[in-house]
Amino acid sequence: MEKTSRQQFEFKAEMKQLLHLIVNSLYTNPEVFLRELVSNASDALNKVRFLQVTGEKVQSPKLPLHIKIEVDEKEQTFSIEDTGIGMTFDDLTGRLGTVASSGTMEFLQQLKDGKNRLDGNMIGQFGVGFYSAFMVADQITVETRHANADETAWIWVSDGKGTYEIEESSRTERGTRISFRLKDDHKEFARAERIRQLIRKYSNFVDFSIEVNGEEVNSRGAVWHKNKKDVTDEERNEFYKFISNDFQEPLDHLHLAMEGRINFKALIFVPKKAKPDFFRVENLKSLQLYSNRVFVQESCEALLPEYLRFVEGVVDSEDLPLNVSREVTQHSPVMARIREVLVNKIIGMIEYWAESEPEKFHTFYEEFGPLFKSGLNSDFANRDRIIELLRFQSTQTVDELVSLKAYVERMPESQKAIYYLSGDSLEELKRDPKLEYFRKKNIEVLLLADPVDAFVVPGIGSYKEKPLKSIEKADLDLEDDPEEEKESGRVSGEALDRLLAVFREEAGGRLEDVVASKRLVDSAVTLTIGKEGLDSHLERMMKMMDQDTGPSRRVLEVNPSHPVIRNMSRLQNAGSDETVRLMARQLYDGARLLQGELESPGEFVARMTRVMELATK
Ligand code: ADP
Ligand code: MG
Repeated sequence: MEKTSRQQFEFKAEMKQLLHLIVNSLYTNPEVFLRELVSNASDALNKVRFLQVTGEKVQSPKLPLHIKIEVDEKEQTFSIEDTGIGMTFDDLTGRLGTVASSGTMEFLQQLKDGKNRLDGNMIGQFGVGFYSAFMVADQITVETRHANADETAWIWVSDGKGTYEIEESSRTERGTRISFRLKDDHKEFARAERIRQLIRKYSNFVDFSIEVNGEEVNSRGAVWHKNKKDVTDEERNEFYKFISNDFQEPLDHLHLAMEGRINFKALIFVPKKAKPDFFRVENLKSLQLYSNRVFVQESCEALLPEYLRFVEGVVDSEDLPLNVSREVTQHSPVMARIREVLVNKIIGMIEYWAESEPEKFHTFYEEFGPLFKSGLNSDFANRDRIIELLRFQSTQTVDELVSLKAYVERMPESQKAIYYLSGDSLEELKRDPKLEYFRKKNIEVLLLADPVDAFVVPGIGSYKEKPLKSIEKADLDLEDDPEEEKESGRVSGEALDRLLAVFREEAGGRLEDVVASKRLVDSAVTLTIGKEGLDSHLERMMKMMDQDTGPSRRVLEVNPSHPVIRNMSRLQNAGSDETVRLMARQLYDGARLLQGELESPGEFVARMTRVMELATK
């Protein structure tokens, strides 16, 4: 693009909406703009420091790394200047002018639907922290020069309403200066003392000098390097908000100082709530990596397995070389050992909650359970610990969840397996006819409504030597009920065989088998899974993801005590073949309908009408 003296650009449509919201919605504390601007300046300084320690050439190399804020109460002006990395023309148009995260768009939609309201504190989460300054100013000027000496310096000006202008600047020093005149409502931020107070509150630990009207304010020091006892809760929580952009306090934290075989410090937090765009794997961030206080990487993948990437925080190790490339960090033995310790400590914290802080555990499990559970399929070293931390709904719980341990402890001695059923929702599961037998016998069944459970639970195999079994499987080893066998009117023997044969024919070879059911009490038929088959719920999910699961192997179970089945047997003996066929077909299709596997509801309804016609003759 030709860079003429002055150009006007338009913000993207969604950016305009967002700006409008930021400026006009209910924001509870406009003061967060300061935290956002200081945070950006600190990021920019971190980047330059990294370039310098790794021997890269930068523009104005002698310039100290610092942040200077100037306010003028009379003029009602504010400016913040850093000697950081600066911005190129492309940064100004591509980063300052766009919405970074997809979560932002979803959040906007929720705002429009009235499901959520905007809080000034939330802004940083959406990667639009810079724009929070439009809460306090009508027009903002950004003057910047990139650390790469070949880049031109630029001035960017916008009223935050729809357009911005860019022109060349004569700035020679590396860094960025952001300046504006405060709106009358917010002239308090032109008072040096007010700004100093806010810096002490929000940004005390920023590792670069921050001056306000020539006076250094912050105490400067990496929080994680301090002795645990010397860090106040407030200081730690502010640090958390600073690095995570969260507006709430964290659920809990770990402050580690490891010495000996491996040396590192870490300050790690578990948020109370997942971020709006959390559940896209590509949005999962790992921990920040520092090497002896020098920022190295924003999200160091090698530090954490994916299933623990709900935590936020920093790891600082002197044992790592500074110029670590991503490839090196992936394979470094030091990194592997740090990771091992972190995983151990984080799981240890969760175990502690499960044991002693049930409320924390519950909050964690609700928010991050699905991600955490996926560790069962990837972290084999910690598998047993993760299994102990699983919790489920069951036929015997109402609000609280049950662990496998509790399940096994309360099951009767005669019970041979741990039973479960998976499906789309708890309500649907509770209505499933396959539960009838278990209800009657008072056997607890775990109800797996979380999609992740369907993927991880079958893989557990067994727990304390009790196999985990889906009650969908036809080969369940259920006890016979001698009383039922004797029950009068129950279809049995040759009559039963003849009736089952009709079902077999009507299913047209789609079934692995048709058998007399031991588990049905109130329902006439149900579909179960053959020996080799996957859970039907899992199979449906795999199909949704376009995964070929091969042909389904279903077994139809027929309840010989059910009035409809008994009547069908009677009709068959009396020679009403057509009616029996019609009903068999209808029952089979009804079971498929319940299972979400019926392709042609039209036929089903037509047949139902025919059955009703016969019944009302
Ligand atoms: P985020 O910090 O989450 O990326 P912001 O809206 O705060 O979102 O900033 C957007 C982008 O603008 C930053 O990612 C960075 O590229 C650029 N930026 C903002 N302020 C500065 C600064 N002081 N120095 C260099 N780049 C900056
Ligand atoms: Mg920012």
